[in-house]
Amino acid sequence: MTSLEWRQGERMEVQAIFEKQRSFYLTGKTKEVSFRLESLLKLQHAIKRYEPDISTALKKDLHRSEFEAYLTEIGPLLDEIKYVSKHLKAWAKPKKVATPQVLLGSKSYVYPEPYGVTLIISPWNYPCNLALMPLVGAIAAGNCAVLKPSEWAPHTSRVIVQMIKGIFEDEYVAVIEGDVKTSQALLELPFDHIFFTGSVQVGKIIMEKAAKTLTPVTLELGGKSPAIIEKDANMELAARRISWGKWMNAGQTCVAPDYVLVHEERKEALLAQLKHEIERFYGDNPLISENYGHIVNERHFARLEKFLQDGEIAIGGKADPEHCVIEPTVLTGVSWEAPVMQEEIFGPILPVFTFAELDDALATIRKQDKPLALYFFSEDEKKQEKVIQALPFGGGCINDTIIHLGNPHLPFGGVGTSGLGHYHGKYSFDCFSHKKAIVKQTTQFDIPFRYPFKKNALNWL
Ligand code: NAD
Repeated sequence: MTSLEWRQGERMEVQAIFEKQRSFYLTGKTKEVSFRLESLLKLQHAIKRYEPDISTALKKDLHRSEFEAYLTEIGPLLDEIKYVSKHLKAWAKPKKVATPQVLLGSKSYVYPEPYGVTLIISPWNYPCNLALMPLVGAIAAGNCAVLKPSEWAPHTSRVIVQMIKGIFEDEYVAVIEGDVKTSQALLELPFDHIFFTGSVQVGKIIMEKAAKTLTPVTLELGGKSPAIIEKDANMELAARRISWGKWMNAGQTCVAPDYVLVHEERKEALLAQLKHEIERFYGDNPLISENYGHIVNERHFARLEKFLQDGEIAIGGKADPEHCVIEPTVLTGVSWEAPVMQEEIFGPILPVFTFAELDDALATIRKQDKPLALYFFSEDEKKQEKVIQALPFGGGCINDTIIHLGNPHLPFGGVGTSGLGHYHGKYSFDCFSHKKAIVKQTTQFDIPFRYPFKKNALNWL
Protein backbone atom coordinates (compact mmCIF):
# COMPACT_ATOMS: atom_id res chain seq x y z
CA MET A 1 0.00 0.00 0.00
CA THR A 2 1.40 3.43 -0.90
CA SER A 3 1.57 6.09 1.75
CA LEU A 4 -1.14 8.05 -0.09
CA GLU A 5 -3.48 5.04 -0.05
CA TRP A 6 -2.69 4.49 3.63
CA ARG A 7 -3.54 8.11 4.41
CA GLN A 8 -6.80 7.84 2.47
CA GLY A 9 -7.65 4.70 4.44
CA GLU A 10 -6.83 6.48 7.68
CA ARG A 11 -9.03 9.42 6.74
CA MET A 12 -11.96 7.09 6.05
CA GLU A 13 -11.42 5.29 9.33
CA VAL A 14 -11.33 8.57 11.24
CA GLN A 15 -14.48 9.72 9.47
CA ALA A 16 -16.24 6.42 10.30
CA ILE A 17 -15.41 6.73 14.00
CA PHE A 18 -16.65 10.31 14.02
CA GLU A 19 -19.97 9.27 12.39
CA LYS A 20 -20.38 6.42 14.88
CA GLN A 21 -19.83 8.80 17.77
CA ARG A 22 -22.35 11.27 16.33
CA SER A 23 -25.00 8.53 16.15
CA PHE A 24 -24.19 7.26 19.64
CA TYR A 25 -24.34 10.77 21.08
CA LEU A 26 -27.79 11.23 19.55
CA THR A 27 -29.09 8.19 21.45
CA GLY A 28 -28.81 10.35 24.59
CA LYS A 29 -26.97 7.61 26.51
CA THR A 30 -23.92 9.75 27.31
CA LYS A 31 -26.14 12.36 28.91
CA GLU A 32 -27.41 9.98 31.60
CA VAL A 33 -25.61 10.89 34.81
CA SER A 34 -25.52 7.22 35.88
CA PHE A 35 -23.75 6.35 32.61
CA ARG A 36 -21.21 9.14 33.13
CA LEU A 37 -20.48 8.00 36.69
CA GLU A 38 -20.16 4.38 35.59
CA SER A 39 -17.75 5.46 32.84
CA LEU A 40 -15.61 7.43 35.29
CA LEU A 41 -15.51 4.41 37.58
CA LYS A 42 -14.39 2.21 34.68
CA LEU A 43 -11.66 4.70 33.87
CA GLN A 44 -10.55 4.82 37.50
CA HIS A 45 -10.33 1.01 37.70
CA ALA A 46 -8.47 0.83 34.39
CA ILE A 47 -5.88 3.40 35.50
CA LYS A 48 -5.31 1.44 38.72
CA ARG A 49 -5.06 -1.85 36.79
CA TYR A 50 -2.67 -0.39 34.22
CA GLU A 51 -0.55 1.54 36.73
CA PRO A 52 2.55 -0.69 36.30
CA ASP A 53 2.23 -0.56 32.48
CA ILE A 54 1.85 3.22 32.50
CA SER A 55 4.91 3.51 34.73
CA THR A 56 6.99 1.22 32.49
CA ALA A 57 5.87 3.07 29.36
CA LEU A 58 6.81 6.43 30.89
CA LYS A 59 10.23 5.05 31.76
CA LYS A 60 10.71 4.00 28.14
CA ASP A 61 9.40 7.25 26.67
CA LEU A 62 10.93 9.78 29.06
CA HIS A 63 13.05 7.86 31.56
CA ARG A 64 10.56 8.94 34.19
CA SER A 65 11.00 7.40 37.65
CA GLU A 66 8.14 5.41 39.17
CA PHE A 67 7.81 8.01 41.93
CA GLU A 68 7.53 10.89 39.45
CA ALA A 69 5.12 8.88 37.28
CA TYR A 70 2.75 8.50 40.21
CA LEU A 71 3.23 12.06 41.45
CA THR A 72 2.62 13.76 38.10
CA GLU A 73 0.42 11.42 36.07
CA ILE A 74 -1.36 8.59 37.87
CA GLY A 75 -2.02 10.23 41.26
CA PRO A 76 -3.52 13.47 39.86
CA LEU A 77 -5.77 11.48 37.50
CA LEU A 78 -7.14 9.28 40.27
CA ASP A 79 -7.70 12.34 42.50
CA GLU A 80 -9.49 14.16 39.69
CA ILE A 81 -11.82 11.24 38.95
CA LYS A 82 -12.66 10.89 42.64
CA TYR A 83 -13.37 14.60 43.03
CA VAL A 84 -15.42 14.93 39.83
CA SER A 85 -17.46 11.78 40.57
CA LYS A 86 -18.30 13.10 44.02
CA HIS A 87 -19.76 16.35 42.69
CA LEU A 88 -21.08 15.32 39.30
CA LYS A 89 -24.75 14.85 40.24
CA ALA A 90 -24.92 18.38 41.63
CA TRP A 91 -23.05 19.94 38.69
CA ALA A 92 -25.18 18.20 36.05
CA LYS A 93 -28.51 19.43 37.47
CA PRO A 94 -30.21 22.45 35.90
CA LYS A 95 -29.62 25.47 38.19
CA LYS A 96 -32.47 27.77 39.07
CA VAL A 97 -31.35 31.40 38.89
CA ALA A 98 -33.00 34.69 39.85
CA THR A 99 -35.58 36.25 37.51
CA PRO A 100 -35.99 40.05 37.27
CA GLN A 101 -39.38 41.66 37.93
CA VAL A 102 -39.90 42.54 34.27
CA LEU A 103 -40.27 38.80 33.60
CA LEU A 104 -42.91 38.47 36.31
CA GLY A 105 -44.54 35.04 36.43
CA SER A 106 -41.62 33.16 34.90
CA LYS A 107 -38.74 31.07 36.29
CA SER A 108 -35.20 30.91 34.94
CA TYR A 109 -32.73 28.03 34.71
CA VAL A 110 -29.26 27.21 33.41
CA TYR A 111 -29.06 23.74 31.87
CA PRO A 112 -25.50 22.43 31.44
CA GLU A 113 -25.49 20.55 28.15
CA PRO A 114 -22.68 18.49 26.62
CA TYR A 115 -21.21 19.82 23.40
CA GLY A 116 -21.50 16.44 21.67
CA VAL A 117 -18.52 14.81 19.95
CA THR A 118 -15.25 16.27 21.22
CA LEU A 119 -11.65 16.02 20.08
CA ILE A 120 -8.73 15.92 22.55
CA ILE A 121 -5.23 16.40 21.12
CA SER A 122 -2.41 15.95 23.63
CA PRO A 123 1.38 16.41 23.86
CA TRP A 124 4.18 14.06 24.87
CA ASN A 125 5.53 15.58 28.07
CA TYR A 126 2.92 14.19 30.49
CA PRO A 127 1.40 11.88 27.91
CA CYS A 128 -0.99 10.01 30.17
CA ASN A 129 -2.16 12.86 32.36
CA LEU A 130 -2.67 15.33 29.51
CA ALA A 131 -4.69 12.86 27.40
CA LEU A 132 -6.88 11.49 30.20
CA MET A 133 -7.37 14.56 32.42
CA PRO A 134 -9.43 16.35 29.74
CA LEU A 135 -11.21 13.06 29.04
CA VAL A 136 -12.49 13.06 32.63
CA GLY A 137 -14.08 16.45 31.92
CA ALA A 138 -15.50 15.33 28.58
CA ILE A 139 -17.11 12.23 30.13
CA ALA A 140 -18.36 14.10 33.19
CA ALA A 141 -20.08 16.67 31.00
CA GLY A 142 -21.74 13.90 28.92
CA ASN A 143 -19.76 14.00 25.67
CA CYS A 144 -18.27 11.44 23.32
CA ALA A 145 -14.54 11.87 22.76
CA VAL A 146 -11.77 11.11 20.30
CA LEU A 147 -8.28 11.20 21.80
CA LYS A 148 -5.20 11.86 19.68
CA PRO A 149 -2.15 11.25 21.90
CA SER A 150 1.30 12.45 20.90
CA GLU A 151 3.38 10.34 18.54
CA TRP A 152 6.49 11.25 20.60
CA ALA A 153 5.53 9.13 23.61
CA PRO A 154 4.65 5.94 21.68
CA HIS A 155 4.86 3.48 24.60
CA THR A 156 2.45 5.49 26.73
CA SER A 157 0.19 6.05 23.73
CA ARG A 158 0.01 2.25 23.23
CA VAL A 159 -1.01 1.71 26.86
CA ILE A 160 -3.69 4.40 26.54
CA VAL A 161 -5.10 2.58 23.48
CA GLN A 162 -5.22 -0.77 25.30
CA MET A 163 -6.71 0.76 28.41
CA ILE A 164 -9.45 2.70 26.61
CA LYS A 165 -10.28 -0.14 24.20
CA GLY A 166 -10.73 -2.43 27.20
CA ILE A 167 -13.42 -0.25 28.78
CA PHE A 168 -15.14 1.83 26.10
CA GLU A 169 -16.58 1.23 22.65
CA ASP A 170 -15.20 3.38 19.82
CA GLU A 171 -18.63 4.94 19.41
CA TYR A 172 -18.18 6.53 22.86
CA VAL A 173 -14.45 7.07 23.46
CA ALA A 174 -11.89 6.27 20.77
CA VAL A 175 -8.12 6.69 20.67
CA ILE A 176 -6.61 7.47 17.30
CA GLU A 177 -2.83 7.24 17.25
CA GLY A 178 -0.82 9.10 14.65
CA ASP A 179 1.34 12.02 13.72
CA VAL A 180 0.68 15.53 12.48
CA LYS A 181 -1.13 14.23 9.37
CA THR A 182 -3.53 12.22 11.54
CA SER A 183 -4.18 15.34 13.58
CA GLN A 184 -4.82 17.28 10.40
CA ALA A 185 -7.28 14.63 9.16
CA LEU A 186 -9.14 14.87 12.47
CA LEU A 187 -9.25 18.65 12.25
CA GLU A 188 -11.15 18.38 8.94
CA LEU A 189 -14.12 16.92 10.84
CA PRO A 190 -16.82 19.11 12.39
CA PHE A 191 -16.22 18.25 16.04
CA ASP A 192 -18.40 20.05 18.57
CA HIS A 193 -15.45 21.04 20.77
CA ILE A 194 -11.67 20.80 20.46
CA PHE A 195 -9.45 20.56 23.52
CA PHE A 196 -5.81 21.03 22.55
CA THR A 197 -2.71 20.87 24.74
CA GLY A 198 0.58 21.70 23.07
CA SER A 199 2.75 24.44 21.66
CA VAL A 200 1.69 28.01 20.93
CA GLN A 201 2.60 27.52 17.28
CA VAL A 202 0.30 24.50 16.81
CA GLY A 203 -2.36 26.15 19.00
CA LYS A 204 -2.67 28.85 16.35
CA ILE A 205 -3.15 26.21 13.63
CA ILE A 206 -5.87 24.53 15.69
CA MET A 207 -7.71 27.80 16.21
CA GLU A 208 -7.51 28.63 12.53
CA LYS A 209 -8.94 25.21 11.61
CA ALA A 210 -11.68 25.48 14.22
CA ALA A 211 -12.64 28.94 12.94
CA LYS A 212 -13.82 27.35 9.67
CA THR A 213 -16.66 25.57 11.49
CA LEU A 214 -16.82 27.98 14.45
CA THR A 215 -15.98 25.06 16.71
CA PRO A 216 -15.26 26.16 20.29
CA VAL A 217 -11.69 25.50 21.39
CA THR A 218 -9.81 25.18 24.63
CA LEU A 219 -6.11 25.80 24.13
CA GLU A 220 -3.67 24.76 26.84
CA LEU A 221 -0.39 26.17 25.56
CA GLY A 222 3.01 27.17 26.90
CA GLY A 223 5.46 30.03 27.09
CA LYS A 224 8.22 31.37 29.26
CA SER A 225 7.15 31.22 32.91
CA PRO A 226 9.33 33.34 35.21
CA ALA A 227 10.32 32.85 38.85
CA ILE A 228 11.13 36.02 40.80
CA ILE A 229 13.17 35.87 44.00
CA GLU A 230 13.03 39.01 46.16
CA LYS A 231 15.81 40.07 48.54
CA ASP A 232 13.90 38.87 51.62
CA ALA A 233 13.04 35.38 50.26
CA ASN A 234 13.77 32.19 52.18
CA MET A 235 16.52 31.14 49.80
CA GLU A 236 16.85 27.56 50.95
CA LEU A 237 13.19 26.86 50.19
CA ALA A 238 13.15 28.99 47.04
CA ALA A 239 16.07 27.08 45.55
CA ARG A 240 14.67 23.67 46.53
CA ARG A 241 11.19 24.41 45.18
CA ILE A 242 12.52 25.95 41.97
CA SER A 243 14.81 22.93 41.49
CA TRP A 244 11.84 20.61 41.95
CA GLY A 245 9.66 22.53 39.46
CA LYS A 246 12.43 23.05 36.93
CA TRP A 247 14.19 19.70 36.81
CA MET A 248 11.19 17.41 37.20
CA ASN A 249 10.84 15.62 33.85
CA ALA A 250 14.13 17.32 32.85
CA GLY A 251 12.37 20.68 32.51
CA GLN A 252 9.86 19.37 29.98
CA THR A 253 6.91 20.77 31.90
CA CYS A 254 4.65 23.51 30.56
CA VAL A 255 4.57 25.28 33.95
CA ALA A 256 8.27 24.78 34.80
CA PRO A 257 10.09 28.00 35.71
CA ASP A 258 11.66 28.96 32.39
CA TYR A 259 14.06 31.54 33.87
CA VAL A 260 14.78 33.21 37.23
CA LEU A 261 14.98 36.87 38.15
CA VAL A 262 16.78 37.16 41.48
CA HIS A 263 17.60 40.23 43.55
CA GLU A 264 21.21 41.12 42.75
CA GLU A 265 22.31 40.74 46.37
CA ARG A 266 21.04 37.15 46.54
CA LYS A 267 22.39 35.76 43.27
CA GLU A 268 25.41 33.99 44.75
CA ALA A 269 23.31 32.51 47.55
CA LEU A 270 20.83 31.22 44.95
CA LEU A 271 23.53 29.60 42.82
CA ALA A 272 25.12 27.90 45.82
CA GLN A 273 21.76 26.61 47.04
CA LEU A 274 20.67 25.39 43.57
CA LYS A 275 23.92 23.42 43.26
CA HIS A 276 23.29 21.87 46.66
CA GLU A 277 19.70 20.91 45.82
CA ILE A 278 20.63 19.42 42.44
CA GLU A 279 23.17 17.17 44.15
CA ARG A 280 20.65 16.16 46.78
CA PHE A 281 18.08 15.27 44.09
CA TYR A 282 20.23 13.64 41.44
CA GLY A 283 23.66 12.96 43.00
CA ASP A 284 27.10 13.82 41.61
CA ASN A 285 26.28 12.67 38.10
CA PRO A 286 22.68 13.45 37.10
CA LEU A 287 23.36 12.02 33.63
CA ILE A 288 23.08 8.53 35.08
CA SER A 289 20.55 9.22 37.84
CA GLU A 290 17.46 6.99 37.90
CA ASN A 291 15.48 9.96 39.26
CA TYR A 292 16.29 12.20 36.34
CA GLY A 293 14.38 12.40 33.06
CA HIS A 294 15.70 12.24 29.52
CA ILE A 295 14.98 14.56 26.61
CA VAL A 296 12.14 13.17 24.51
CA ASN A 297 13.99 12.88 21.20
CA GLU A 298 17.14 13.81 19.27
CA ARG A 299 15.55 16.87 17.67
CA HIS A 300 14.74 18.42 21.04
CA PHE A 301 18.13 17.35 22.41
CA ALA A 302 19.90 19.17 19.54
CA ARG A 303 17.73 22.27 20.05
CA LEU A 304 18.54 22.35 23.78
CA GLU A 305 22.24 21.55 23.43
CA LYS A 306 22.69 24.72 21.36
CA PHE A 307 21.26 26.81 24.24
CA LEU A 308 24.21 25.74 26.41
CA GLN A 309 26.33 28.23 24.46
CA ASP A 310 24.02 31.16 25.25
CA GLY A 311 25.65 32.12 28.57
CA GLU A 312 28.21 31.17 31.18
CA ILE A 313 27.60 27.78 32.70
CA ALA A 314 27.28 28.29 36.45
CA ILE A 315 26.06 24.74 37.21
CA GLY A 316 25.94 21.54 35.13
CA GLY A 317 26.35 21.85 31.38
CA LYS A 318 27.30 18.29 30.48
CA ALA A 319 25.23 16.33 27.97
CA ASP A 320 25.01 12.73 26.78
CA PRO A 321 23.71 12.60 23.19
CA GLU A 322 23.53 8.82 23.14
CA HIS A 323 20.85 8.75 25.86
CA CYS A 324 19.45 12.26 25.19
CA VAL A 325 20.28 13.59 28.67
CA ILE A 326 21.40 17.09 29.65
CA GLU A 327 22.46 17.88 33.21
CA PRO A 328 20.42 20.33 35.27
CA THR A 329 22.12 23.47 34.01
CA VAL A 330 22.15 27.05 35.23
CA LEU A 331 23.24 29.82 32.88
CA THR A 332 24.32 33.32 33.92
CA GLY A 333 25.35 36.31 31.82
CA VAL A 334 22.61 35.54 29.29
CA SER A 335 21.47 38.28 26.91
CA TRP A 336 17.70 38.81 26.48
CA GLU A 337 18.39 38.62 22.75
CA ALA A 338 20.05 35.18 22.98
CA PRO A 339 18.21 32.24 21.30
CA VAL A 340 17.54 30.66 24.73
CA MET A 341 15.37 33.68 25.58
CA GLN A 342 13.51 33.75 22.26
CA GLU A 343 11.41 30.62 22.83
CA GLU A 344 10.10 28.42 25.63
CA ILE A 345 13.13 26.40 26.80
CA PHE A 346 11.19 23.23 27.68
CA GLY A 347 14.34 21.54 28.93
CA PRO A 348 16.70 21.46 31.93
CA ILE A 349 18.42 24.80 31.30
CA LEU A 350 17.74 27.69 33.68
CA PRO A 351 18.96 31.20 32.83
CA VAL A 352 19.39 33.42 35.91
CA PHE A 353 19.06 37.20 35.66
CA THR A 354 19.35 39.82 38.41
CA PHE A 355 17.37 42.93 39.30
CA ALA A 356 17.91 45.83 41.70
CA GLU A 357 14.27 46.86 42.25
CA LEU A 358 11.18 44.67 42.07
CA ASP A 359 9.59 47.18 39.67
CA ASP A 360 12.44 46.56 37.21
CA ALA A 361 11.76 42.82 37.31
CA LEU A 362 8.04 43.40 36.73
CA ALA A 363 8.75 45.77 33.82
CA THR A 364 11.02 43.13 32.24
CA ILE A 365 8.34 40.44 32.46
CA ARG A 366 5.66 42.80 31.16
CA LYS A 367 7.61 43.11 27.91
CA GLN A 368 7.23 39.35 27.27
CA ASP A 369 4.15 37.39 26.18
CA LYS A 370 1.71 36.64 29.01
CA PRO A 371 3.17 33.58 30.76
CA LEU A 372 1.32 30.38 31.64
CA ALA A 373 2.72 30.51 35.19
CA LEU A 374 4.56 32.89 37.47
CA TYR A 375 6.30 32.18 40.76
CA PHE A 376 7.21 34.80 43.35
CA PHE A 377 9.40 34.19 46.38
CA SER A 378 9.17 36.73 49.20
CA GLU A 379 8.03 36.96 52.81
CA ASP A 380 6.46 40.37 52.20
CA GLU A 381 2.69 40.08 51.75
CA LYS A 382 2.35 43.55 50.21
CA LYS A 383 4.89 42.64 47.55
CA GLN A 384 3.18 39.30 46.99
CA GLU A 385 -0.13 41.09 46.32
CA LYS A 386 1.62 43.64 44.12
CA VAL A 387 3.09 40.94 41.89
CA ILE A 388 -0.22 39.05 41.66
CA GLN A 389 -2.02 42.23 40.62
CA ALA A 390 0.66 43.78 38.43
CA LEU A 391 1.15 41.10 35.80
CA PRO A 392 -1.12 38.99 33.60
CA PHE A 393 -0.35 35.24 33.75
CA GLY A 394 -2.31 31.96 33.73
CA GLY A 395 -1.75 31.05 37.39
CA GLY A 396 1.05 30.51 39.80
CA CYS A 397 2.36 30.26 43.33
CA ILE A 398 3.77 32.43 46.04
CA ASN A 399 6.84 30.77 47.57
CA ASP A 400 6.51 27.57 45.52
CA THR A 401 6.30 26.25 41.96
CA ILE A 402 3.75 24.11 40.06
CA ILE A 403 1.64 23.05 43.06
CA HIS A 404 -1.31 25.21 41.96
CA LEU A 405 -2.09 22.38 39.53
CA GLY A 406 -2.72 20.08 42.46
CA ASN A 407 -5.86 21.85 43.70
CA PRO A 408 -9.07 20.85 41.85
CA HIS A 409 -10.79 23.98 43.19
CA LEU A 410 -8.44 26.11 41.06
CA PRO A 411 -8.82 26.61 37.31
CA PHE A 412 -5.82 25.65 35.19
CA GLY A 413 -5.17 27.50 31.96
CA GLY A 414 -3.27 30.29 30.28
CA VAL A 415 -4.01 33.80 29.13
CA GLY A 416 -3.04 35.50 25.86
CA THR A 417 -0.52 33.36 24.00
CA SER A 418 -0.29 30.86 26.89
CA GLY A 419 -3.83 29.62 26.34
CA LEU A 420 -7.55 30.05 26.07
CA GLY A 421 -10.01 28.57 28.58
CA HIS A 422 -9.27 26.44 31.61
CA TYR A 423 -9.98 23.08 33.21
CA HIS A 424 -9.53 20.82 36.28
CA GLY A 425 -12.35 19.95 38.71
CA LYS A 426 -15.59 21.86 38.10
CA TYR A 427 -13.77 23.96 35.48
CA SER A 428 -13.33 20.80 33.39
CA PHE A 429 -17.05 20.08 33.59
CA ASP A 430 -17.77 23.67 32.51
CA CYS A 431 -15.14 23.54 29.79
CA PHE A 432 -16.96 20.64 28.10
CA SER A 433 -20.51 22.00 28.68
CA HIS A 434 -22.64 24.54 26.91
CA LYS A 435 -24.79 26.54 29.33
CA LYS A 436 -28.31 26.53 27.95
CA ALA A 437 -30.44 29.42 29.24
CA ILE A 438 -34.11 28.61 29.76
CA VAL A 439 -37.03 30.74 30.90
CA LYS A 440 -40.21 28.86 31.84
CA GLN A 441 -43.08 31.29 31.37
CA THR A 442 -46.44 31.15 33.08
CA THR A 443 -49.66 30.73 31.10
CA GLN A 444 -51.78 31.91 34.04
CA PHE A 445 -51.62 35.52 32.86
CA ASP A 446 -50.02 37.65 30.15
CA ILE A 447 -48.64 41.13 30.71
CA PRO A 448 -49.41 43.08 27.52
CA PHE A 449 -46.97 46.00 27.66
CA ARG A 450 -44.38 44.45 25.37
CA TYR A 451 -46.80 43.89 22.44
CA PRO A 452 -47.14 46.58 19.74
CA PHE A 453 -50.96 46.53 19.83
CA LYS A 454 -52.51 49.25 17.73
CA LYS A 455 -55.04 50.12 20.43
CA ASN A 456 -54.13 51.02 24.00
CA ALA A 457 -52.91 47.81 25.60
CA LEU A 458 -54.68 48.57 28.84
CA ASN A 459 -58.06 48.87 27.01
CA TRP A 460 -57.40 45.43 25.56
CA LEU A 461 -56.91 44.08 29.08
P1 NAD B 1 3.01 20.15 19.80
O1 NAD B 1 2.18 21.39 19.67
O2 NAD B 1 4.13 19.96 18.87
O3 NAD B 1 2.09 18.84 19.65
C1 NAD B 1 0.92 18.63 20.42
C2 NAD B 1 -0.03 17.73 19.63
O4 NAD B 1 -0.40 18.38 18.43
C3 NAD B 1 0.55 16.38 19.25
O5 NAD B 1 -0.45 15.39 19.44
C4 NAD B 1 0.87 16.54 17.77
O6 NAD B 1 0.74 15.34 17.04
C5 NAD B 1 -0.16 17.55 17.31
N1 NAD B 1 0.34 18.40 16.22
C6 NAD B 1 1.62 18.79 16.01
N2 NAD B 1 1.69 19.59 14.91
C7 NAD B 1 0.43 19.70 14.44
C8 NAD B 1 -0.14 20.38 13.31
N3 NAD B 1 0.60 21.10 12.48
N4 NAD B 1 -1.48 20.28 13.13
C9 NAD B 1 -2.24 19.55 13.97
N5 NAD B 1 -1.75 18.86 15.04
C10 NAD B 1 -0.43 18.94 15.27
O7 NAD B 1 3.49 20.13 21.32
P2 NAD B 1 4.46 19.10 22.03
O8 NAD B 1 5.84 19.29 21.50
O9 NAD B 1 3.87 17.73 22.01
O10 NAD B 1 4.39 19.64 23.54
C11 NAD B 1 5.17 20.70 24.00
C12 NAD B 1 4.40 22.00 24.10
O11 NAD B 1 3.16 21.79 24.76
C13 NAD B 1 5.12 23.05 24.91
O12 NAD B 1 4.98 24.29 24.27
C14 NAD B 1 4.40 23.07 26.24
O13 NAD B 1 4.47 24.27 26.95
C15 NAD B 1 3.01 22.76 25.80
N6 NAD B 1 2.25 22.16 26.90
C16 NAD B 1 1.24 22.87 27.48
C17 NAD B 1 0.55 22.32 28.55
C18 NAD B 1 -0.57 23.06 29.23
O14 NAD B 1 -1.30 22.40 29.96
N7 NAD B 1 -0.72 24.35 29.04
C19 NAD B 1 0.88 21.05 29.01
C20 NAD B 1 1.91 20.38 28.40
C21 NAD B 1 2.58 20.93 27.32
